[in-house]
Amino acid sequence: MTEAGFLPFARPDIDAATIAAVSDVLASGWITTGPQVQAFEARLSELFGGRPVRAFANGTATMEVALRLAGIGAGDEVITTPVTWVATANVIVSVGARPVFVEVDPRTRNLDLAAVEAAITPRTRALMPVYLAGLPVDMDRLYAIARRRGLRVIEDAAQAIDSRWRAARIGSFGDLVSFSFQANKNITCAEGGCLVMNTPAEAERAERLRLQGVVRTGLDGMDVEVPGGKSNLSDVHAAIGLGQLQRLKQITQRRAELAQQYFDAVAAADLPSLGIELPAPTDAGGATTNWHMFQVLLPTDRLAGGRAAVMQALRDAGIGTGVHYPAVHLFTYYRQLGWRDGTLPQAERIGRSILTLPLFPAMRSSDVERVCQTLAATCKRLLT
Ligand SMILES: *Cc1c(COP(=O)(O)O)cnc(C)c1O
Repeated sequence: MTEAGFLPFARPDIDAATIAAVSDVLASGWITTGPQVQAFEARLSELFGGRPVRAFANGTATMEVALRLAGIGAGDEVITTPVTWVATANVIVSVGARPVFVEVDPRTRNLDLAAVEAAITPRTRALMPVYLAGLPVDMDRLYAIARRRGLRVIEDAAQAIDSRWRAARIGSFGDLVSFSFQANKNITCAEGGCLVMNTPAEAERAERLRLQGVVRTGLDGMDVEVPGGKSNLSDVHAAIGLGQLQRLKQITQRRAELAQQYFDAVAAADLPSLGIELPAPTDAGGATTNWHMFQVLLPTDRLAGGRAAVMQALRDAGIGTGVHYPAVHLFTYYRQLGWRDGTLPQAERIGRSILTLPLFPAMRSSDVERVCQTLAATCKRLLT
């Protein structure tokens, strides 16, 4: 970022070789699902220890297909977190099931697994954890609950590419694991997603569901047993993903470096003394985040003008921030399903006070310092 330039909270970084590869695809005469998608799926499968992987047009379609693969539909309950992108809850609704929101742990901002266990009813069919900012939950405990209670797990790992639980990469173990390659994610296809599955049979069903349910036999045979949607990835997008995958290790390393610089700069600017809460550290009891985001909690209720005033002041200083996320259960649609204020106080407090600070590989250390100093000065000015 130039001194004069605006510092966004996220910025994709597509290298020249990838741009050339995309041009080649565009000139090749085959631009939709084809050899690039196959190669992308093969590389992803390698990354996830050989498990079957299929690519999709986006991470929302990926999760919806995962729910369908698990046979989840009308009358079923799926337990999830309210501190997520609304896609997580929307896909549960779109297959006809009911999202059951439970409280989060204020330190990790992820599902509180004791609350998950307490929310299980005879109608519960699946658990849908989200790894906010790339930080996994306690995966041993999650799968112990699922096994003991006979539940499927659909991991919304949209933000967690290259995150780890102990030594294992998220996606290399577990049940159905969904990733997103939307533009702001650590690696991107512009838009895209992938689903990691258990068996080749599941992968075959997923392939049908992503393209109308069509099954072809021979040169002219076609049938549909289960109607599917239209969520195949194009070769143009897959070429971007292939280029990004090659740089995954560097991207994760750079993000970890920047996060460490944030912890140092935050301490130097004395943010905690202003009532600003920091994210859990990189290695939090077995979970290693990929630093998809660096998020603080503001003392919102004590700030004149609240969070919006902080965001405006930062924007005026050339710094972009984001809100990931307002608590989903308080959106109008979910209120209509019966969810109310005050029922999930930690999630609601996080939804009101969370702020995503700029973090992307091309950022400089001086940007990190400037963000923390500006945030400190702004909060000092607005604290009442
Ligand atoms: C990005 C994201 C999604 C959805 O992915 P898309 O590719 O945008 O459809 C779902 N859940 C979470 C937590 C996300 O961050």
